[in-house]
Amino acid sequence: MMKYSEREVKEICSAYSCDSSRMMDILRDIQKRFGCVPEEVIDLIAGQVDVARVEVDSTVSFYAFFSKTPKGEVVIRLCNDIIDRMNGSDVIAEVFSRELGIEFGETTPDNKITLEYTPCIGMCDQAPSALVNEVVITDLSSDKVRSIVKTLKETGDPLKLVSRLGDGFNAHHLVKSMVHNCIRRKGKVVFAFADCDPNAGLEKAISMSPVEVINVIKNARLRGRGGAGFPTGMKWEFTRGAEGNKKHVICNADEGEPGTFKDRVILTELSNLLFEGMTIAGYAIGAENGILYLRGEYAYLYDFLASVLNFRRKKGFLGSNILGKPGFNFDIRIQMGAGAYICGEETALISSCEGSRGDPKNRPPFPAQKGYLSSPTCVNNVETLCCVVRILDKGAAWFAEMGSMGSAGTKLLSISGDCQSPGVYEFPFGISVRELLREVGAINAVAVQIGGPSGQMIGEDDFDRTICYDDLATGGSVMVFGSERNILEAVKCFMDFFTEESCGYCTPCRVGNVLLKRCLENIIAGKGEPSDLDYLKDLGETIKTASRCGLGQTSPNPILTTLQNFRPVYEALVHEAKDGCRPSFDIHAVLKDAQNITGRKSVYF
Ligand code: SF4
Repeated sequence: MMKYSEREVKEICSAYSCDSSRMMDILRDIQKRFGCVPEEVIDLIAGQVDVARVEVDSTVSFYAFFSKTPKGEVVIRLCNDIIDRMNGSDVIAEVFSRELGIEFGETTPDNKITLEYTPCIGMCDQAPSALVNEVVITDLSSDKVRSIVKTLKETGDPLKLVSRLGDGFNAHHLVKSMVHNCIRRKGKVVFAFADCDPNAGLEKAISMSPVEVINVIKNARLRGRGGAGFPTGMKWEFTRGAEGNKKHVICNADEGEPGTFKDRVILTELSNLLFEGMTIAGYAIGAENGILYLRGEYAYLYDFLASVLNFRRKKGFLGSNILGKPGFNFDIRIQMGAGAYICGEETALISSCEGSRGDPKNRPPFPAQKGYLSSPTCVNNVETLCCVVRILDKGAAWFAEMGSMGSAGTKLLSISGDCQSPGVYEFPFGISVRELLREVGAINAVAVQIGGPSGQMIGEDDFDRTICYDDLATGGSVMVFGSERNILEAVKCFMDFFTEESCGYCTPCRVGNVLLKRCLENIIAGKGEPSDLDYLKDLGETIKTASRCGLGQTSPNPILTTLQNFRPVYEALVHEAKDGCRPSFDIHAVLKDAQNITGRKSVYF
């Protein structure tokens, strides 16, 4: 660990005016500067920003990218989501481990390099992938890993690993990333590059009253693109009408649902469109403050996005009296996340923006009434805000004509897994899964996970169903599984993810998901019996209804939807107990645990 200096800690706190709501920024800077946030520094920060020590401590321990104990100067985080595993991340892990001479979770003896796993980093279209500090390395192979380790041992500099640059703004000097956009299908709304007149939406918005702008969005029937599908115009209307002088717009760019990466492409290629959408939202609801909550995994885009914001300020698209409209003041800051999936939930995201643990909040009050710093707050998805601009520019009718009955417009889908062309596709709502599979070159698909782990896994019988809010709703993640795949391996991976990412606040989610996972593991190991399938269903449904936030309310879905759509897979693995003995009960294993705890040996076994 780099020795911390009290002066530097104080300087970092002062850079954020010792404001406790900027705790995430303070901790990120400290972690980057000293390689960890040690106990003594927690004391110092608490004193500087005038909060209880436990508040700083609990924030540090909540986020995966913060650590109280020293890590290596370079941290390699290998993505271990199901798509990366399908693309060989297990072999990549072995090579990393062998070349570095350490196991996952360890640091090299010279304290230079730490090796860890991480959940989805938003690169499923170019898996296997890893983060090396903030540098994204894609399309990993064994040879590439050997070369990475060699370079890091020689130079200690992750930037030296970028051997080629990606397309579009990935090659910009402030990004310098090897990531590719993988835009496979352009549409009429978001990926309509040639048809997009910069700031035309904003100019049209300010020629109307805020209420008229909200009505345009309502008439377009725009619904939130994050998955829940709440009508955007109605959300704006509630926030505008809520009591409070200070209002806020937050853009949720924390796409952490495994298999989702379409916001990454918008942030890279269409950041002006996104910031224009946030500005229109600010005008409509009467907010002066905007926050882009950017997931920690996308830190490589930070400098670039900050430069776009500066450009917009210089041009008069942000700041005071925007585009000469008296009294229309709005600006945007970027709030970095630090590796916590739950922060994609809007109230948890607000907690994180306030500098706290990413704990979801009780509703009511809803964010529109009492959100960021207790003021009315509108949280919108990245793609939603891009649609807003296009609607203002082209008109509500133009937008509402596209798509299907209850789902106007188009949808960006991040498609990965067993297909020839993984990437981002813009389709009108209403496309069937079968059409979609044909377009992506998925020739032997037997299962498709729609909406990420929290969504549903469907089989071939459902391939004529359609992507829309009234049938298969999705925030954008579509994972394809071919006939050679063991779908229970995917289900187990999803349950590993949820048990890891639960914030632990409520018992049904914290404990229930662990019980679900254990039962599933027993079944996979051939130790389950038929009654376990009823147990999984009952427990899963209980967790869904008894949990406080969206994570717990959807976390049993991998099991519940495969039990429904792939029941024979489970039935082939379970067996009736013989002689009343439960096959899953392994007395030797149970006693071994007890013996280890008590230090005693059994005289019977
Ligand atoms: Fe936390 Fe899970 Fe409860 Fe949500 S449902 S508050 S993630 S424990």
